[in-house]
Order: sequence, then C-alpha cells, then structure tokens
Amino acid sequence: MTPQVATQRTFCPTQLIEYKTARLTSQPPECSGGLFDYVFAGDGVYVHAARPELEVCFCVERATVRGLPPLLPVFDFRLPRIPESFVCSMIRDANVWAEQGLETLFHLCWSDLALMDDGWVGYEPEQARTAKSCRPFQDGGSHDRAIVEVHSHHSMAAKFSPQDDADETGFRLYAVIGRLPNAPEIRVRVGVYGYFWEIPASWVMDLPDGVRGCEIQEVVL
Ligand SMILES: [Zn+2]
Repeated sequence: MTPQVATQRTFCPTQLIEYKTARLTSQPPECSGGLFDYVFAGDGVYVHAARPELEVCFCVERATVRGLPPLLPVFDFRLPRIPESFVCSMIRDANVWAEQGLETLFHLCWSDLALMDDGWVGYEPEQARTAKSCRPFQDGGSHDRAIVEVHSHHSMAAKFSPQDDADETGFRLYAVIGRLPNAPEIRVRVGVYGYFWEIPASWVMDLPDGVRGCEIQEVVL
C-alpha cells in the first residue's frame, strides 16, 4: 500500500513564526508559519508545526487564559511505522560501537522509491564518535533529509542529555538508544526548533522483543 503523504503546502508563508489564538476546542488553527505557529489557548501556549511527513502541536507553557478553549496535543505521523527488523539492525550496528564505549548516529530517511523496510532507509554518516557524543563531519545529505535522527548511548540510559538538547535543533523526530548491549531501550521525542515533546516509541516504530520503549507517564493524546 502506498502511504498517503500530504502534498507540499502550496501557500508561501509570509512569517517564519505566526502567533494565533485557539478558537475551537481541541483543534489548533491551520498551521501557516514558515517554521511554526504559537497558539495561545485556554490551558497554555502550544507550538504547532507541519511538514509533509509530520504534523504536531504540543504545549510548551502551561497557563490558564480565561475565555479561550483548551487544546489537545496533535501527533499526526504520515509515514509507515519503522519496522521491527529495521530497529533490530540499527541496534545491532549500535552494539558494534557500544563494545568500544562509543556513541553512534543514524539518519533515518523515507522514500516511496525504496522497496525494502516500508520505504525507510538508514544511514550511519561519517562522524566523530566519542563516549559522550557523535557528530557528523558534514551537514547536508542524509542530515538534511532525515525524518528521524537516532543516536546511541552505549551502556548508559536512553535519556536526552543537555548536549542532545543543544544539538537537536531541527523539526523532526529524535531518538536515543541506551543500555547496550544487554537491556536495550529507546526513547523518542518530537523536536520543533528547540522545543521537545517526548512520545512513546511505539507511536512511530515496532519494537523488537527485548527492546524497551521508554514511555513517560504523562504522555496523553
Ligand atoms: Zn545523547
């Protein structure tokens, strides 16, 4: 089945960031900012961003604003889930570096021309690996096309570090793999230009047996 990916928006945004007010309960106004919209709602300030593969809207600051309706978070992932076999091979590759105490970075791209893995194609770019970081030598290529960016934390827990927060500044999904090789776990979040929302890994990928998804308690749709 060919996944239905929304076509590229045809309008030309006049502002990189738009500021809007919620008018309908639970639904944000249509996203029109070049990067994202701020939406002021009865329960706080939301960030709303859309690209052909993904639309998200989540609260970045709780507040009570009388007279405005509250919103519900939006997570609309318009691609096939990342298959279990794909996750397995990524963890296998991460284990090779984990044996040396090193992190490693993957770029996950999607193409309707790719016949395997439901269109998902993984890259492990040329990069500088240390025990605490992994940085590609070049921007561009898979870095620009990645919809999901994954890095591994060898034997350490799958938690996003302050350095990860500083590095992960795009609009895409970010994941971290930890506790390799014996108790692999994976944590996933949406990143919107420095704003983050942790989501269950199971929303975007099929987890192999023995791989734990780090799901935070407060995730509610
Ligand atoms: Zn990290």
